[in-house]
Amino acid sequence: MANIQLSGEKVINYINGEWTSSKKAKFVTIVNPADGQPIGEVLQSSKEDVDLAVQAAKQAQKKWSRVPAPQRAQYLYQVGELLKERKEKLASILTQEMGKVIEEARGEVQEGIDMAFYMAGEGRRLFGQTTPSELNDKFAMSIRVPIGVVGIITPWNFPIAIATWKSFPAIVAGNTVIWKPATETPLMARELVKILDEAGLPKGVMNLVCGSGSEVGSAIVEHPDIDVISFTGSNEVGRAIAEKGGKLLKRVSLEMGGKNAVIVMEDADLSLAVEGIIWSAFGTSGQRCTACSRVIVHENVKAELEKRLLQEMKKLTIGNGLNEDVKIGPVINKGALKKIHEFVEMGQEEGADLLAGGYIVQEEDLDGGYYYAPTLFTNVRPDMRIAQEEIFGPVLSIIPVRSFEEAVEVNNSVAYGLSSSIYTRDVNRVFAAQRDLDTGIVYINAGTTGAEIHLPFGGTKGTGNGHRDSGVAALDVFMEWKSVYVDFSGKLQRAQIDVES
Ligand code: NAP
Ligand code: MG
Repeated sequence: MANIQLSGEKVINYINGEWTSSKKAKFVTIVNPADGQPIGEVLQSSKEDVDLAVQAAKQAQKKWSRVPAPQRAQYLYQVGELLKERKEKLASILTQEMGKVIEEARGEVQEGIDMAFYMAGEGRRLFGQTTPSELNDKFAMSIRVPIGVVGIITPWNFPIAIATWKSFPAIVAGNTVIWKPATETPLMARELVKILDEAGLPKGVMNLVCGSGSEVGSAIVEHPDIDVISFTGSNEVGRAIAEKGGKLLKRVSLEMGGKNAVIVMEDADLSLAVEGIIWSAFGTSGQRCTACSRVIVHENVKAELEKRLLQEMKKLTIGNGLNEDVKIGPVINKGALKKIHEFVEMGQEEGADLLAGGYIVQEEDLDGGYYYAPTLFTNVRPDMRIAQEEIFGPVLSIIPVRSFEEAVEVNNSVAYGLSSSIYTRDVNRVFAAQRDLDTGIVYINAGTTGAEIHLPFGGTKGTGNGHRDSGVAALDVFMEWKSVYVDFSGKLQRAQIDVES
C-alpha cells in the first residue's frame, strides 16, 4: 500500500491553468476524521475568485467547443491512465481525508478511472439524428452542442467519483467547468485537478475554486455567465439552488438524499440478503446516498433475519480505514456524530426497539476519531422519523410487513426515491417489483448500493429534479439539441402549409 503521510497540505485554487491563492487568503483546517488531527488547510475564496474563474472558463470555452469531440476525448484517455497509475496513492489520501476504508477508497478511484474511459469513448458517439424532411429536396437533422460554462458543486462523501461523473461528460461535450468541492475534502479535488493539468487539458477548461457553500457555492449559482449547475448534496441546499437557478433560467441538475430500503420476502435467500444488507447499510459508515437505512421484512422471516444480522454485525471491526482489516471507518466530523446520535435517541423515544449499537464509540485507541457503533433498530413503524428522514450514518431500521404489496407501499412511502432492493426467488414478484418500486435505481437480489458508471444514476421525488448523472443520460445535462434544416430545392417551401396528410 502507498504510505502517504499527510501534513501541512495547502489547497489553493486552480484558475486558467494556474494554481492561485485568493486576495483575502483565509484558510480553514482539513481534518482526518479517523483521529481528529489536522492534515492541511484549504483556501476560502470569495466571489471575486469565482468571477476570475468564470472569465477564464468563458474565454476558454470558445476554443474548446471547436476542438473536435474525439480530440477532447484524448485528454480524458490520458486522465484515465494517470488515475490508474496513481490509484493507490489517491485511495490513501481519500481514506485519510474522508474516512472511508481503504478498500472502498480504491473502489471510488476505480469509478473515476471507469468514467474517464467511458466518457472518452463518448467523444466518438455524440450522436444526433437525421430524418427525412416532410418537404422535397430538404434535409433535416438534429445535432448536439455544448452549452457553455458549467458550475459543479460536490459533497464530501464521494470526493473524487462524483466530480468525475459531472466534469468528464461536461468536458467531452465541449463545456468548460468551475468546480467547488466540499470544504471537508479539498485534497482529493486538488489531486484530480493536478491530473487534468498533467494530461495537458488546455487552460481554463477546468477551474477549481475552493471555499464555503454560502460564499463560493452561492456565487457560482448566481453568476449570470454560468449556464448549467450540477449539484450533489443535501435536499435543503439543493432546493435553494433550484430556486435561485430557476429565476435565472439556468439548467440545474440535482442529486440529493435517499432513504433506501432492502425488501426481504419470505422466500428470500437469507444468507445472501444478510450480506447485501450489511454491505449496503454499514459500508462507508452509512454515509452513501444509496445506503440502505430500512429493511422491510416479511414477518415470517423477521426473527431469523434479525438473528443473522446481529451475528454479522459483531464481525464489523471499527477503526482507522487505512488498516486493511477494518470494516467501519469514522463518520465525517463531530457534527455528524451528534446528528446520528440524536436520531438514535429519537428512535428510542418513538418506541423502536434498539437491538445493537446506539452509541458513540469511545474506546481508548479510537480516541480523537469520529466513530459511531453500527446500530440496529427493530419493530420500526414506517411513519417514524427514523424511517422517514435521512440519517447518513450506520443506523438501520427493520420494518415488519405482511405481504409483498405492503412492502412496496412502505418502500414508496418516503419523500426520497434513489435506490431500492428486493430479495425474493419469485420471478413474478421480481417483475412486479421493478415496475412498482418508485426509485431511480432498483436492485434484485443485491443491496441498495453498487451503481455502475455506464448506467444513469439518480432518483425520483425528493432525490432529484429529473436529471441523471452517469451513463449517456449525463450528456443530456451538459448538451443542447440543435435542429438543422437544409433546403436544397431552390424555392420557398413551407412546412405544414405546402404539404397536407
Ligand atoms: P451539503 O451540505 O448539501 O453540501 C454539498 C455541497 O454544497 C458542498 O460543496 C457545500 O459546500 C455546498 N453548499 C452548501 N451550501 C450551499 C449554498 N447555499 N449554495 C451552493 N452550494 C452550497 O451536503 P453534504 O453534507 O456535503 O453531503 C451529504 C448529502 O449529500 C446527503 O444528503 C447525501 O444523501 C447527499 N448525496 C447525494 C448523492 C446522490 O447522488 N443522490 C450522492 C452523494 C451524497 P460546503 O462543503 O462548503 O458546505
Ligand atoms: Mg456540508
